[in-house]
Amino acid sequence: MKYIFHLSIFSLLFLACKGETSQQVQTESNPEQNPPNIIVIVADDAGYADFGFMGCKDLETPNIDNLANNGTIFTDAHVTASVCAPSRAGLLTGKYQQRFGFEANGTGYGGSGDIGLSDDVVTMADVFKAHKYKTIALGKWHLGGTETDHPNERGFDEFYGFIGGGRSYFPIKNPSYEHMLQQNGKQVVFDGYLTDVLGDRSVAFVEENKNQPFFMYLAYNAVHTPLEAKESDLEKYKDAPRQYLAAMTWSLDENIGKLLKKLEQSGILDNTLIFFMSDNGGAHNNQSSNGILKGWKGNEFEGGHRVPFIVSWPSKIKGNQTFNGLASSLDIFTTSLAAAGIKKDGTLELDGVNLLPYLTHEKTGNPHDKLFWRKLEESAARAGDYKLVRLENFGSTLYNLSNDIGETKNLSQTDSLYYNRLQDELNHWESKMIDPLWGEEKPWMDVTYYIHKQLMQNKEVLYKAPPDKDDQQ
Ligand code: CA
Repeated sequence: MKYIFHLSIFSLLFLACKGETSQQVQTESNPEQNPPNIIVIVADDAGYADFGFMGCKDLETPNIDNLANNGTIFTDAHVTASVCAPSRAGLLTGKYQQRFGFEANGTGYGGSGDIGLSDDVVTMADVFKAHKYKTIALGKWHLGGTETDHPNERGFDEFYGFIGGGRSYFPIKNPSYEHMLQQNGKQVVFDGYLTDVLGDRSVAFVEENKNQPFFMYLAYNAVHTPLEAKESDLEKYKDAPRQYLAAMTWSLDENIGKLLKKLEQSGILDNTLIFFMSDNGGAHNNQSSNGILKGWKGNEFEGGHRVPFIVSWPSKIKGNQTFNGLASSLDIFTTSLAAAGIKKDGTLELDGVNLLPYLTHEKTGNPHDKLFWRKLEESAARAGDYKLVRLENFGSTLYNLSNDIGETKNLSQTDSLYYNRLQDELNHWESKMIDPLWGEEKPWMDVTYYIHKQLMQNKEVLYKAPPDKDDQQ
């Protein structure tokens, strides 16, 4: 199928927005005696402006808003990549994925070669499992399809989900390996709607493990394409301008609500550290909105990597807070280790920062002075308020986000001091990374390059997807 999208920057501005341990008792004891559960909830391709807590009016997310109200909302939090796979690689390893060559989005599946998470890279699950946490990955994996890439080989005691980058929300007849729903490597058959199935599994896992510390990586494929929703939710939103996205988002929210309720009923919500985020910016192909941010999934403007982000830990972090400091999904690993009182092995090098002192007001300011991004031919650097966006063989643009969050005014000619400084910073960072271990298919490369170039020139984007590849990112 071919899709043609006409989008202008102007119109974007108007888009709506194991070892058994003792029962966990709420005490002020040190974390090692009362380690918190860790839950990382990842939405897929959800827009910066597409949740109630981010100001959205036409999509409803009462449960996620409730999580936000009981925690801290981040306004300047970023993922390490503007597409699914490398973003998840950065999140789960706590280091820039370019350090181990995981830069392209296509990870290859079953027998396609050693494309995916390199065997020597340590994941969050590896560390928590080694510290007697029960670990589970639910939903989308997308970190490679070879045997050594499987979640059960990467620190997760349990895996219930699918290996690839996307799939139908309904049962598929004769699914391929990457689309097959599986539990620990064995195909499972499900009825109903996948978002409900994953929500139910998250609740069942809490019931089974509520008396011991656990780490849950809950990676919903909602609201990634294909746009598929339950009839009842479509009926609920039959008059909504973004009917499918509203219905899919409602189901996502409903299932996160089920998990929160289960944690509360089990008496462990207060001592559970929960992160909520989208794996990249809202996509051009699922009706999502990044609000005033420029661009979307797949490029290095804010719309590609600035994401909705919540941290909640009721027993330690006051609710109803908004945090405007510069933060990253890289921080999830480091923050979780600190919360659990786990001392980092000296050989484990992480790029993240412990966010807890910022959320308890022991520290102020930005957790990161700088952040960097690179996806093959596109790269970007952020230092303070300034952001540099570079496109290979084309040029670079500079923005001051403090007064131009929409990246509309290119300051590369007028602010040469910052322009040169950020070029140097980006070059220095790149010199510490390795070359990508694999690349992207040419049709995607051409399309993303074209889009990026148009955006850098603040031009209207006429987007034409390569045939039959619309669901692969
Ligand atoms: Ca994604």
